[in-house]
Amino acid sequence: MKILLTGGAGYIGSHTYLALMGSGHVPVIFDDFSNSSPKVLERLERISGQAVVCERGSVADSALVQGLMKRHAIEAVVHFAGFKAVGESVAQPLKYFDNNLVGMTRLLQAMDATACRTLVFSSSATVYGDPASVPITESFPRSHTNPYGHTKLVIEDMLSALQKSDPAWKVAVLRYFNPVGAHPSGLIGEDPRGIPNNLMPFVAQVAVGKRPVLNVFGNDYPTPDGTGVRDYIHVQDLAQGHVAALQTLAAKGESFTVNLGTGQGYSVLDVVRAFEQASGRQVPVQFASRREGDVAQCYASTERASELLGWRAQLGLDAMCSDSWRWQSANPDGYA
Ligand code: UDP
Repeated sequence: MKILLTGGAGYIGSHTYLALMGSGHVPVIFDDFSNSSPKVLERLERISGQAVVCERGSVADSALVQGLMKRHAIEAVVHFAGFKAVGESVAQPLKYFDNNLVGMTRLLQAMDATACRTLVFSSSATVYGDPASVPITESFPRSHTNPYGHTKLVIEDMLSALQKSDPAWKVAVLRYFNPVGAHPSGLIGEDPRGIPNNLMPFVAQVAVGKRPVLNVFGNDYPTPDGTGVRDYIHVQDLAQGHVAALQTLAAKGESFTVNLGTGQGYSVLDVVRAFEQASGRQVPVQFASRREGDVAQCYASTERASELLGWRAQLGLDAMCSDSWRWQSANPDGYA
């Protein structure tokens, strides 16, 4: 299939690009490089040995998107091009409403106008808010605690309204848990701008000596060691999840919503220990107060993903840490 990857130069988009190529698809990257580097394109060419097809622009530019969808005969879209920083969304909600909600609307209009109605959307476990229990199944109630999470929830509702209005829409909503790790080549990986918000890139920067210490946000949660528990999933597994989702949409022709996680929860201290082991470096920690909006535990039920997609995460915490370390140590300043 010819597939448009909006935000295809970003962390998850670039890994999914390679997974799709590896499965015989023809991915076209579409990115405005507002939160990614054009250098990723050379890296993708080095890994794949093939020229990357990339278009630059905004998903909100409907005329541009319609033009390139026709030119490349796009059959499906995987939409990664959303902003995702919780704190920034609290400080600048309009930025999130504009890019995530208006951008999504314009993209859907362009897809409708070109009669391409197959979409894979990057949602997030954030739509479960503070879950009443774990593991989390897809039927758990949804809520939001910040504008970023709210945009994911609203988009899920937009997509379900669209499917009701026209059954020609085939939509896979993928609720990601905590993507980490990097391609085993060490050539592409997560390259956050400024101070990382997420745990794994922060730990990697401490291990490589860019930051002195990890602040552990809270050690009084009702978890085995008191620190927050999350479902970390290797980005390579997540990328394969997109391939499986596209194949399922094509084979079954029905829309679905599915968790992409491993079903296994690890605490902040578990991650620190695994990273020290993988890197051979010390990761000093200090305990700090809880981060506002954080939940104690969040991990997925993986049953629906395995039944519906025939997909399961294969890689464990050790591979997540060693691949993340390979990328971080070979590229201490990311793509800069
Ligand atoms: N965390 C931490 N220090 C950091 C960043 C994160 O202790 O510098 C903790 C955070 O409180 C949570 C876990 O690590 O328990 C995962 O946080 P992340 O932001 O990566 O994912 P999310 O909270 O969005 O699931």
